[in-house]
Amino acid sequence: MMELVVATRNSGKLREIRRLLESKGVSILGMDSFPDAPDVDEDGDTFAANAVKKALAVARFTGKPCLADDSGLEVAALQGRPGVHSARFAGVDADDHDNNCRLLHDMDSVPDDQRQAAFCCVMALCLPGAPPRLFEGRVEGRILRQERGDGGFGYDPLFWLPEFACTMAELPLDTKNRISHRGQAMRLVVAYLSSLQR
Ligand code: IMP
Repeated sequence: MMELVVATRNSGKLREIRRLLESKGVSILGMDSFPDAPDVDEDGDTFAANAVKKALAVARFTGKPCLADDSGLEVAALQGRPGVHSARFAGVDADDHDNNCRLLHDMDSVPDDQRQAAFCCVMALCLPGAPPRLFEGRVEGRILRQERGDGGFGYDPLFWLPEFACTMAELPLDTKNRISHRGQAMRLVVAYLSSLQR
């Protein structure tokens, strides 16, 4: 069975990645298996730059194949913010609730027909002896004026999916993985890993 280190300390991300990859026969190691691994400063201007930086740092430290996800929310009315700053939109120590409050505050005057947003995900896969490979996913939605649902994590309770008539936080995990930015990127990772085994 292939073993893959997932370079994230975000338990929501890890849960989604684990569910999808373990069902495909990949054994997942989280960063809790490497308590001495250094924190990686996510100071890149793009999701891709941050994903590559995280994947390379953790692959070097662990000496194992590594997958890193950098992801976030892009809001059209905020010129693409919070983008790469999604995790710390409301400040360095901000949690999901703080970030959602900041988003609602910044969008208070944005009319209902201009609240388009997208979740974006870039995954970087580092396999021994090969340069990092990138895989991307994106899902479109709208930002509500109040939270709905208690599943998922991050901005999920504010992210309305018109075709499902619910928020991302109201979807079961398997449904979120079927449609989400992260699910799309992960399916490309799975297809790539399978192509190596043929
Ligand atoms: P990263 O660790 O820099 O990639 O931070 C990603 C941040 O983007 C998270 O902390 C969330 O705020 C947000 N985010 C990414 N993916 C999702 C998702 O699937 N649902 C909700 N928020 C997300």
